[in-house]
Amino acid sequence: MTKEVSFIDLGLSKDILNALNDLGFTKPSPIQSECIPLLLEGHDVLGMAQTGSGKTAAFSIPFLMNIDPNLKVPQLLVLAPTRELAIQVADACSEYSKYMKGVKVLALYGGQRYDVQLRALKQGPQIVVGTPGRLLDHLNRKTLDLTSLKGLVLDEADEMLRMGFIDDVESIMATIPEDHQTALFSATMPAPIRRITKRFMHNPKEVQIKGTNQTAPDIEQSYWLVRGVRKNEAIIRFLEAEDFDAAIIFVRTKSATLEVAEVLEKHGYSCAALNGDMTQQLREQTLDRLRSGRLDILIATDVAARGLDVERISLVINYDITLDSESYVHRIGRTGRAGRAGRAILFVDSRERRLLKNIERTIKKTIPEVGLPSKELLEKRRLTKFVEQVQKQLQSNDLNQYQKLLAQIQADSCADLETIATALLKLAQSERPLILPPDPVFKSSHEIRDRDSRSGEHRLRGDNRELPKRRERRDVGDMDMYRIEIGKENGVEVRHIVGAIANEADISSRYIGNIKLYDTYSTVELPKGMPKDILKHFEKVRILNKPMKMSLVGGTSSGKRNRRANKSEISDNGFTKKRIRPPAPKF
Ligand code: ADP
Ligand code: MG
Repeated sequence: MTKEVSFIDLGLSKDILNALNDLGFTKPSPIQSECIPLLLEGHDVLGMAQTGSGKTAAFSIPFLMNIDPNLKVPQLLVLAPTRELAIQVADACSEYSKYMKGVKVLALYGGQRYDVQLRALKQGPQIVVGTPGRLLDHLNRKTLDLTSLKGLVLDEADEMLRMGFIDDVESIMATIPEDHQTALFSATMPAPIRRITKRFMHNPKEVQIKGTNQTAPDIEQSYWLVRGVRKNEAIIRFLEAEDFDAAIIFVRTKSATLEVAEVLEKHGYSCAALNGDMTQQLREQTLDRLRSGRLDILIATDVAARGLDVERISLVINYDITLDSESYVHRIGRTGRAGRAGRAILFVDSRERRLLKNIERTIKKTIPEVGLPSKELLEKRRLTKFVEQVQKQLQSNDLNQYQKLLAQIQADSCADLETIATALLKLAQSERPLILPPDPVFKSSHEIRDRDSRSGEHRLRGDNRELPKRRERRDVGDMDMYRIEIGKENGVEVRHIVGAIANEADISSRYIGNIKLYDTYSTVELPKGMPKDILKHFEKVRILNKPMKMSLVGGTSSGKRNRRANKSEISDNGFTKKRIRPPAPKF
C-alpha cells in the first residue's frame, strides 16, 4: 500500500489546490501520489494504470506547476488518441489551471478548421492537447512552435498504437526538441510502446498501479438472455424498470444507433444517437445536452463513446454484446463515475453465450442473469407513478372548476361517479397503459442454461427459435482469419483497415490481429465467434470507397471451401508466421 498523502503534502501551489478543492478532489489517487512527485523532481515517467484512475491530473498538475504564464508559447504538449479524449484532457487542464492567471489551454484535433486553430494558436496557449494526425500537420506546416516545450505527454499510448497512430506519434517525437520531460501513460506495455519509451525517454521511472479489480466494485452488473421478445421491446421494459439519472446504450453499428434512438423516441424518451458520422460540433452539443440534463439517454457505438466521462450516467445497457471483453469493461466504466454507484445490463443472444463467458473470465466474476421486467413489475411502477400524479392534482387549488364539469358529465352520461372515475382512469392511461397484455411464455433460464449439450431438444416457446447446438469451446484469444477484397493496389494501409473495422463493429483495435496487405486483397485476424450479422455488415463497409466484401478464410463454420487450401499452414490456435496462401480467387 502506498503511503497516504494529501495534495498539500505534494507541495502544490495555492492556485492548483484551490482548483482541486473546487472540483471536490479531497486526496490524490494512487497514480497521482506516485507520479506527481516524480514529475516535479524532473524525471521522465512511465505510468501504467487502468481507466478511471485519475491519470489526467497525475500528469497535468506537475507540468502546470512548471508553466510560465508570461511566456505565451506551448510549454506542455499532450497527445491523445481521439478528439473526445483530447477535449476531455484539455477541459481538465483548464479546470486545474483556472486560478492561474494568463494560462491558456488549446485542444487541436482533426475535423476542425485550420483557420480556427491557427487563430487559437496565435493567442499563445501554454498547453496544447491534440490528436497525433492534426499535431503532425501543424508541425509540418510550422504552425506549432515547440521550441519552448518543457513537457510532453502521451496519454493512452496503447490506444494510439491500436488505432494505428503510432507512426505519427514517433514522427512527432522525433521532430520536437530533445530538451523536455516526457510522461507516457498506457494501460498495457506492448513492444512498440516499450520501444518508444526506450528511444525517446530518459531513464523513465516506472509507476504501475495494479487495478484492485478490473471493474469498479460499485457497478452492479447483470445480463438478460435475449428471448421471448425482441431487443427493441426489451430495452423499453428495462428502461422503465430501472431508476436512472442518465443512461448510455451501446450498439454495434452506426445504423443501430439511429434505429434504437427512433424506438426510444417513440416511447417518449429524450435521447440521441452518438456515432462517428456526426460532426465534432454536433457531438459536443449532444454531450453538453446530456451533461446538463436536457438529454437522458445516449445510444452510442464504442468508438463514439470512448473515454466519455459524464457523471450523470448511472445506467449502461449493452444492447449488443461486445466481441472482446476489454471493450465491455470500458463500456460499463462509463457509469459509476466519480465514485457514484452504477448499473450495467448486458443483452446476450443465445448464440453469444461464449462471448459472455469470455467477459466473465476477464472480469473474474460471474454476471448474474436477470429476467425481462415482467408485466406485473411494469404495471406496479406505472400505477405508482400514476397515483403520484393524482395526488399532486388533489393538492392543486383549481379543482373547483373541474367539479362543475364532473356534474355535467354525470348528468349527460347518467352514470354514477365511480363508473365515470373508472372511465377517466382508462382514458388517462392511453400513452402508457396501466394494464398490460400477458407476457410471452418462455422456458426458465435454468432449463435453457442446462440444455447446452442436448442440442435442439428444447424449443423456445416465445419465439419458436431452436437453440443452437453447442459449439466447440476454444480459448479466449482464438482468432479467425478474414479476407477483404481491397489491397495494396487500391492504396490501402493497415490504419485504414483498423479504422474501418474498429468504427463499424465494436471491436477495440487491440483485438484486431495481424493484418497483411497483398496486391489485390488483404487478410485480417479477428476474434473467433464474430456474429453473422457483423460479417454481413462488413461485406458492405467501404474502405477508400470500395466495399471490403469481407469473407471468412480460416475457421470452422463457413468457409469450408477454403479450409483445405489453408489447412497445412494454419495451426490450431491461429496462424503460423508463414505466408498464408490466399483462397482461390472468385470469378
Ligand atoms: P484516467 O485518465 O485514468 O482514465 P481520469 O483522469 O479521466 O482517469 O479521471 C477519472 C475521473 O476521476 C474524472 O472524473 C476525474 O475528475 C476524477 N478524479 C481524478 N482525480 C481525482 C481525485 N484525486 N479525487 C476525486 N476524483 C478524481
Ligand atoms: Mg485518461
